[in-house]
Amino acid sequence: MTSEPRLPELKSAPAPMTGAAEGTAYACVMQCNRCGFCTSFCPTYLATGDEALSPRGRNQAYRAVLEGRIPHASEGDRLFSTCLLCGECTTVCFSEVPTAKIMGNARGKIFRQEGEPALLKFILRFILPRPRWMGYIFRAAFLMKKAGLSRLSNRMGLLGWISRELSAAEDMVDDVPWLFARERLKAPARSPGGPAPDVVFFLSCGSHYLRPSVAESTAYLLERLGVSYALADNVCCGLPGMTYGDFEAARRLAVINIDRFEKYPDSVILVDDSSCAATLKDYPSLFQEGTADHTRAVRLSGRVKDLSEFLKDQKWPDTSGAEPVTVTYHDPCKAQYAQKIVSPPRTVLSAFPSVELTELPESDQCCGGGGTYSFMHPDISREVLSRKTANIMSTGAEVVLTSAVSCLIQVDYGLRRARSGVRALHLSEFLKRLLDRPH
Ligand code: SF4
Ligand code: SF4
Repeated sequence: MTSEPRLPELKSAPAPMTGAAEGTAYACVMQCNRCGFCTSFCPTYLATGDEALSPRGRNQAYRAVLEGRIPHASEGDRLFSTCLLCGECTTVCFSEVPTAKIMGNARGKIFRQEGEPALLKFILRFILPRPRWMGYIFRAAFLMKKAGLSRLSNRMGLLGWISRELSAAEDMVDDVPWLFARERLKAPARSPGGPAPDVVFFLSCGSHYLRPSVAESTAYLLERLGVSYALADNVCCGLPGMTYGDFEAARRLAVINIDRFEKYPDSVILVDDSSCAATLKDYPSLFQEGTADHTRAVRLSGRVKDLSEFLKDQKWPDTSGAEPVTVTYHDPCKAQYAQKIVSPPRTVLSAFPSVELTELPESDQCCGGGGTYSFMHPDISREVLSRKTANIMSTGAEVVLTSAVSCLIQVDYGLRRARSGVRALHLSEFLKRLLDRPH
């Protein structure tokens, strides 16, 4: 097992979430010829107008770190930590410089030099692998919300005084459920030794703890489509560890998930959150090639399907006569850049004659959600979001759809702030409503 994950070969259309051995990171940084073509596509540059917060600025800063011209990587922390890891810059760059992966490496370098903050390490390595502990935290958040304590303390400025990130989180997250998705879903009974289910359903943390209606809707769709499924007893996919540069934390979660999915060797691994789907597909980059863990990760990643990839081949019940509805679609970066998924959700929607899809202007742009990014960097995140919200409202659509809970919470927050009547729904939630309606 290596201490750092690998970067892909250059020119290989990388998924934008892993870090790299420093030598490889340096080779990648050196591929940047500083042309600046990527700059006008980068959401953080567009939001701030700050060249340092562009892909070129970030790559050159990390080059200076790796060459020893900047002795402490933490001096570049503002540049490295504010990258949304969206991956758009790599898509438009002629050299395909994997800036998002390089930024993952840069964040890891800060930890190697300065040590990882104890609280972050505790969350990534102790809490995330333990769903019960995750549950305690979200139940505490539910009680605070229910009693109005979190909102009140935020209004009084108390939360902001304790932590700017907590204050931003309280502002954004409208509702926290008491019952999580796993408790709401009735897992289909499976007899031991019976036929393998068609799919094994990965429960993402976003839909499990924050928006269980997404998982419930996905389960409903599977039932309506006659697809047999089992609920996976998975843990977090590891994306937070990859995001923050703690690859060991990500690797530990990957090993647990690989073990658990091997119980269903012949079933498709279905993921209804594009961020988690991209992460599971990226597992091989966490392990040294030629090792048993790498082989197992390759096998797992080949079985993963993002929801729309799976749904595009399904035969849908007849919904003719349904009320017309206009929608627009926000492509999560982890779908369009990390997995190259753009047409599948559109193919799914085209199967419903009552649905009119209006394309979203600047659909190539990130919404600024980025998991915990919206809490950690609320100013940039909200600036990026304002542009997304204005674009959504300009379409005149009644509903905006997406396929990642992080994007859903972010877009929903932007629309609420703008007092817009546009509803934000996950693709599963929308399809369930379509099938539920009397025709
Ligand atoms: S990352 Fe690519 S597009 Fe951007 S400045 Fe470097 S070479 Fe040019
Ligand atoms: S990954 Fe996204 S936010 Fe980061 S430098 Fe590239 S375009 Fe900008």
